Amino acid sequence: MVAKRISAIEDSIFGLMSALAFEHKAINLGQGFPDFSGPEWIIEAAYKSMLEGKNQYAPTQGIHSLRKIISEVYSRHYGVEFSFENEITITAGATESLFSTILALVDEGDEVILFEPFYDAYLSDVLLAGGIPKFVTLYKPDFKFDFKELESAISSKTKAIIVNNPHNPTGKVFSQEELTFIYELAKKYNLYIISDEVYEFLTYDNIPHISFLTLDRQRERTIMISSTGKTFSMTGWKIGWAVTNPILTDAIRKVHQWTTFTINTPGQHAMAYAFSRLDEYLPIFRQEYQERRDIMFNGLLETNFKPFKPFGSYFLMVEFPQVGKDDVELAKELVIKYKIATIPPSPFYRKSHEGKTMLRICFAKKKETLLEGLEKLKQFRV
Ligand code: PMP
Ligand code: GLN
Repeated sequence: MVAKRISAIEDSIFGLMSALAFEHKAINLGQGFPDFSGPEWIIEAAYKSMLEGKNQYAPTQGIHSLRKIISEVYSRHYGVEFSFENEITITAGATESLFSTILALVDEGDEVILFEPFYDAYLSDVLLAGGIPKFVTLYKPDFKFDFKELESAISSKTKAIIVNNPHNPTGKVFSQEELTFIYELAKKYNLYIISDEVYEFLTYDNIPHISFLTLDRQRERTIMISSTGKTFSMTGWKIGWAVTNPILTDAIRKVHQWTTFTINTPGQHAMAYAFSRLDEYLPIFRQEYQERRDIMFNGLLETNFKPFKPFGSYFLMVEFPQVGKDDVELAKELVIKYKIATIPPSPFYRKSHEGKTMLRICFAKKKETLLEGLEKLKQFRV
């Protein structure tokens, strides 16, 4: 009955674990979203926009003021200039930017390289486009990749490499050396880089975020994707964007037009305002998340779970003691018996088995939720 391309598409583990957490009234450290609301001044800005009558369709590429202010922010933060007229598209979250980009770029039979553990949407998007995913592993404990393994994954059919930095689910921040290596390979083999940077403002210990835009300054082969969801703790608003050269932007906008056409108008106005206050907002935002990271990481050291320290994003991975269960079985047991939800990461791997011995924990939560979650995790004994 349904199209063949659907047969390879799996249900999202994030949705499954949240439903299970809800059913068992468990503390949810699984799916990545804050258990607090975003700033009230952004909500007020959205309300004001609605009252002012900004309630009809926005231009398909996104409202002028939001595109313009993102270009100003990137100019200030990354020293990169791009045209907000024809090099940025506002989409329904980073998710739609990824979908529109991959559909705009990948032909049937093209190969696309994914670092595993990968963010699940990449695999589904590549498969929906008729592409062939190839995998390169980020190995624990520090989630580095083998440079030779990456180069040997490239074939004459390779079209693109997807990089997520800072990285979900591991909290890895790619080094300058790693990013330069990826960029040099992309030039050597004429590949595109789809750079998912949704956690661009969320790095810890004063580690700077290196945007791919600063390596490929002319955006010859880079599509940089980000979102307001993480930066302003408003994951439900789903406002993201893709920045790339005018030719690729045109192609992305063609898919975007026939997917969502345009994104909600008052939300875009509110986010344009939010970006106008980014520089006063960021230090507090980063400090609060670093505190959450420290509470979770240090707390986990007193449990039977061994945490791998994250340097960016709001996730970390833990290894669990070998109890004859894989990650999916243990994650279910933790929800049902211990009332604590995590994410089993094996669905994010295709090559390595490392995911079967780890769990992902989200620390974008109130302090009391983190402490309650840690109490539950402490109860897990071998
Ligand atoms: N990429 C990564 C790495 C993510 O973690 C997420 C969601 N948390 C997304 C993309 C999707 O972002 P959005 O909610 O803006 O669609
Ligand atoms: N990005 C979120 C996470 O990693 C989930 C988003 C979703 O459920 N699609 O948990």
